[in-house]
Amino acid sequence: MSAQVAEIGGGQREWEDRVWFPPGPQLAVCLSGSKERLADLTDDELLQVAAAARRQTSWAQARELAAIAELTRRRTSDEDCGAEESGDPEYRVLSARESVAEEVAVALSVTGNAAATLVHLAEQLTGPLARTGEALGAGRVDMAKARVICDVTEGLPGDVAGKVQCVALEKASEQTTGQLRRRIKRIAQRLAPQAIEERKRGAVRHRRLELWDTPSGTSDLALCDLAAEDAHAIFNKITAAANGIKADGDPRPLSTLRADLATALLHGVELPEAVRTLLSRTGDESDVASPSADGGEAVCARLDDDVDERLGGLAGEVERRLNHVRGRVRPRELPHAIRQAARHIDDQLADARDTACQGDEECHGSPDYRPPAAMRREIEARHSRCVFPTCNQPSRRCDLDHTIPWRPGLTCRCNLAPLCRRHHRLKQTAGWRLHQIWPGLLIWITPSGGWYIVRPDRQ
Ligand SMILES: [Zn+2]
Ligand SMILES: [Zn+2]
Repeated sequence: MSAQVAEIGGGQREWEDRVWFPPGPQLAVCLSGSKERLADLTDDELLQVAAAARRQTSWAQARELAAIAELTRRRTSDEDCGAEESGDPEYRVLSARESVAEEVAVALSVTGNAAATLVHLAEQLTGPLARTGEALGAGRVDMAKARVICDVTEGLPGDVAGKVQCVALEKASEQTTGQLRRRIKRIAQRLAPQAIEERKRGAVRHRRLELWDTPSGTSDLALCDLAAEDAHAIFNKITAAANGIKADGDPRPLSTLRADLATALLHGVELPEAVRTLLSRTGDESDVASPSADGGEAVCARLDDDVDERLGGLAGEVERRLNHVRGRVRPRELPHAIRQAARHIDDQLADARDTACQGDEECHGSPDYRPPAAMRREIEARHSRCVFPTCNQPSRRCDLDHTIPWRPGLTCRCNLAPLCRRHHRLKQTAGWRLHQIWPGLLIWITPSGGWYIVRPDRQ
């Protein structure tokens, strides 16, 4: 990750030492430089400015929530005087909490729902989730991630919520909201399966069909809070039918076919009839094969600890060496220097990597371009998602990319990694580089000279 404290040489530039500059009044001053100055910054510095501004935003949001929490405390401390129960629901007065949400809504010009969410978040982040509140104030997580932590811990017993929060904060700064949510949901599920089950049952009671209009003049129709099994079964059934239509040569994207099928079904058309109607509208181009979804659940490859440790050591060493380069070159030379350094590391490891990968076997990998099924499963188990740092695409829906293109690149576990279509294209895009320096350990180099190290999943 490029966000590391850089060693600064003689000619200091404005942003070089701002990487982990904490948010607050001083950072606000740094960020308030006149706009023209942005034009003088390097690409790398511009990204640091953006990251600094985001930290500053988080800091301000923590203040907003702290103020709301304080007001809520004042209003709810004398709750008993206001809210006497009247039998008639028509005349029920608002609870102190509902009332303060309305105060917040008008003061901030947000909807009542948004305000109620803010009040709840404010109470959590200054109460049971105070450590998340501190991380927000320090710019280590942003508001979206704080919300994820608050959502996932909702309704959990206090000690479990505390543990989940603790685990969440370990990695939250380098994870997207999707990655964070997945990770801590899994942990919560393990720690408090019963509470999760109860919460689910409660949510299902509020299942509903929602409709809203979009800015483009279309409308969205959504079935919300279905039991997950139901929703997945429906989705899979429609997907299977859509895949069948595609296999018959329909050039339309799978998502379009799914939407058309679902629309027909909700209009009361039977599935076989809906499929026939769509098929009769099939164009004549035969198009891209849909990515294979061979239901075989990838076996979880549990990394044994010493492999994990070795990879961790290697990742740390790469990080240290790239940082060293970063500290020594002038900002304009950074992208080139980092690309070279990464290639150098890759070259240096090549022999050892080949030997390690080959093991006792005569030949290295498979002779074909397409990996055999067992190899594919191994690669998919090693990375359950596309290997771009922020991507959530499950690897069984990805291409297995040859990190070094096939021939001279091998079809082998040291040269394959899942990439979704989008990030496959990104890899081919000017300025981007991807190295697999050890089986499953990859480094992305960005056009501005940043780097992101991707390690195998830890199950
Ligand atoms: Zn190999
Ligand atoms: Zn991707």
